[in-house]
Parts: sequence; C-alpha cells; structure tokens
Amino acid sequence: MKIPKHPTLIRRSLQARQKELQAHCPVLAASLVTLRRACGNPNCRCARGQKHLGHYLTWKLKAKTHTAYVPVDLVAQVKLWTQEHRRLKQLVQQITQLSLALIQTHVRAKRRKRGRS
Ligand SMILES: [Zn+2]
Repeated sequence: MKIPKHPTLIRRSLQARQKELQAHCPVLAASLVTLRRACGNPNCRCARGQKHLGHYLTWKLKAKTHTAYVPVDLVAQVKLWTQEHRRLKQLVQQITQLSLALIQTHVRAKRRKRGRS
C-alpha cells in the first residue's frame, strides 16, 4: 500500500478502509490445517499407526496452541471465516499505517509553522 503525502488524501484513504472494516460472515482468528491423529480407540487401525486425516483449526491463546476438530461438511465455510479474519487484519494494519501518517503530517505541519515565526 502506498501512503499518500497530503492529509486530505490520507483521510480519504482512511475513510474508504473504515467502510470496508465490517465482517461479512463470522470471523475466525485461527488457521485451518489437516492433521493426522489417533482417535483413542485401542482397537482402531490408527492405534497401529494408520492415523486418521482430518481438518482442524489451530489458534494461539496466551502463548498456548489450541486445536479444534472441524467436520468435513463445515470445512468450506470455516475456510471463508478464516479468510475474513485475514482480510480484516490486513485492513486494520493499513488503517494503522494511515492513521500514523496522519499524525506525522500534523507534526510536520506544526514544525513548519514554528520554523516560520
Ligand atoms: Zn482411530
């Protein structure tokens, strides 16, 4: 993203992103992964090494990684929810950069005024 120099352009860029900052579906701050796991049944083939391939969500909370099983019929939907989180996260990062740029142009303008007097 290119950050404009002029405060008016920065504000315009900010407003466009603020409008986009709205969830279009549930939002999941987690990663969708496929894992091989044992189900725990000692008589199952997975106990002899042929583990089950399944879809899981993983996420970190207080430096601990958590995992949740995702039924196969929900995988497509859950994927969209994680993509929505990525989209919103990128927007927040861009809005942060633009907001900082706005503060910095203000600081520079003040300095220029002070320099003149
Ligand atoms: Zn099993």
